[in-house]
Amino acid sequence: MTIPFIDFARLSHTDASVKKAIDEVLRQRWYIRGPEVDDFEAAFARALGTGYCIATGNGTDSLYLALRALGIGPGDEVITPAFGWISSAETVSLCGATPVFADVNESNFCLDPQRLREKITHRTRAVVVVHLYGGPADIQPILELCQSHDLALVEDCAQAHLTRYNNRTAGTFGQVGCFSFYPTKNLGALGDAGCVVTNNAGLNEKIRRLANHGALEKDDHLIEGTNSRMDTLQAAVLLARLPHLESWNHQRRQNAALYAEGLKDIHGIVPPSVADKTEHTFHLFVIRARERDALKSHLEDHGIQTMIHYPKALPNLPAYRRLGHHPSDFPVASRFEGEVLSLPIFPGLTPDEVSYICDRIREFYANR
Ligand SMILES: *Cc1c(COP(=O)(O)O)cnc(C)c1O
Repeated sequence: MTIPFIDFARLSHTDASVKKAIDEVLRQRWYIRGPEVDDFEAAFARALGTGYCIATGNGTDSLYLALRALGIGPGDEVITPAFGWISSAETVSLCGATPVFADVNESNFCLDPQRLREKITHRTRAVVVVHLYGGPADIQPILELCQSHDLALVEDCAQAHLTRYNNRTAGTFGQVGCFSFYPTKNLGALGDAGCVVTNNAGLNEKIRRLANHGALEKDDHLIEGTNSRMDTLQAAVLLARLPHLESWNHQRRQNAALYAEGLKDIHGIVPPSVADKTEHTFHLFVIRARERDALKSHLEDHGIQTMIHYPKALPNLPAYRRLGHHPSDFPVASRFEGEVLSLPIFPGLTPDEVSYICDRIREFYANR
């Protein structure tokens, strides 16, 4: 058997509606800020239960625009998790502010509220929380800390489309939620795309302006901004695919449940856990594994493609050498570097494939 890490061909049931949407854009020839962009914004805001959605060029821009709209700039500190994708930290630097890393929880890979509390100083202005792998962070205690210290809360939901916590959608807890529609995300475009969601009318206008050279209407440049708009074409594709998102997430959860069953009681691995009152969307299915690299090779030898998200904790990257951290400053994040392994979990992955992967993992540990 060969099992790829992701197989876009298994999403081909949407090809007909996607092609129809693309044809319509070609017919209208309104390539930037066309009507599909407004339609997608409205549809995504409705799906999340939020007041406003601003379509952007990509997820990284979404974070940058959100931080800029919140007034983050030189002299400010923004606390971000020590483990995850670089966007949540690099966009803080892009604003001229300083990213301050806090260690993550062993149980959910996300920002640990206790570690976050220890990093708050008189310069802290905001927190970027990342709902990593599709599971929500401990948002309630983090929200309370932000409220009591008067800090803005930005949620990075690039891996958490329709993830829920206490029946509320990720992205609707903080001042702003930032999404990416990079092709491999739970809702993916045919290229780069992203959005910001908020319930705040003032932030909606500010982000909208910043994403379009400071203007809402043509030539209405009240402020300076940048160019980060979602192409009409990508909005049309996303509109065609959005109705499938819940069902794709459901398939991911079903496969996660099969994994949980198939990986039970294997000494050497820790499967991901799902906290009470949360709905995980399993953007990634990440186990922690003893002898991770040998396990990865063993799976490769049996035709199973896996990935490592992420091989380095953020403070340990060369990009952050200037901050002068030592791996022991972030013990959990630094330990994850050698333990995490992402197994295939894309929609369309079959139960037989999951069971084949589980068997190969079980046999690896049986022989040691
Ligand atoms: C993908 C991703 C981003 C960035 O999104 P792009 O659209 O690729 O810029 C940001 N944060 C996290 C957690 C991501 O997974």
